[in-house]
Amino acid sequence: MPTIEALSQLLFPIRCFGCNKIGLSICSSCRREWHPHYYSTHISQLRVHSAVLYSATASKIVLAAKESGLKGADALIIDAIVHVLLQGNFDKHNIQLVPIPSSASARRRRGRSFIVDIAGSISLRTGYPVSDSLELVRKVRDQSGLHACARARNMQGAFALKRGAYPRGDLILIDDVVTTGATLCEAARALMNQGFRPIASVTACVAQPLR
Ligand SMILES: [Zn+2]
Repeated sequence: MPTIEALSQLLFPIRCFGCNKIGLSICSSCRREWHPHYYSTHISQLRVHSAVLYSATASKIVLAAKESGLKGADALIIDAIVHVLLQGNFDKHNIQLVPIPSSASARRRRGRSFIVDIAGSISLRTGYPVSDSLELVRKVRDQSGLHACARARNMQGAFALKRGAYPRGDLILIDDVVTTGATLCEAARALMNQGFRPIASVTACVAQPLR
């Protein structure tokens, strides 16, 4: 008699997040494009450390996690960020992770605040505490398709420190992708406005060159 697992494989075969090929959640050729390395970029005063270059494959993996809530895709993003956190020259005893929050509408649509959720899993793996201390304080447009200046305008003043939040230690901003850095800059600014200075940011993907 077939097991439930075998039946569910038959009904819902596992497909590659990158190319949709049946078999593994990431096939060997897509794995070549999603193999955690170590990239370091600067956005004004903020140093950003990332694991993989943002390719068409990477974009599909991020969407599978973010918009479809597929746990296997989440795991790839979590692995990538953990890889960078463990490689970086950080004081491992003093790190606090500050996730970039999603908008209320994205939270409703996805049933979770994507990066806050990812940061929670990273915390379980690394033991680094999370300080979910930022919130979006006004509406922002979807950033895809916006160029650097429009992104900067779109994000200006978008974040604030949550009432009563008091992040401690070496704050590291966590996000899925850095493109122009507009989001991370504004998140850093919201922290600095209240006297907290993030030491760095870690993202799973980096779009190069920064557009
Ligand atoms: Zn593939």
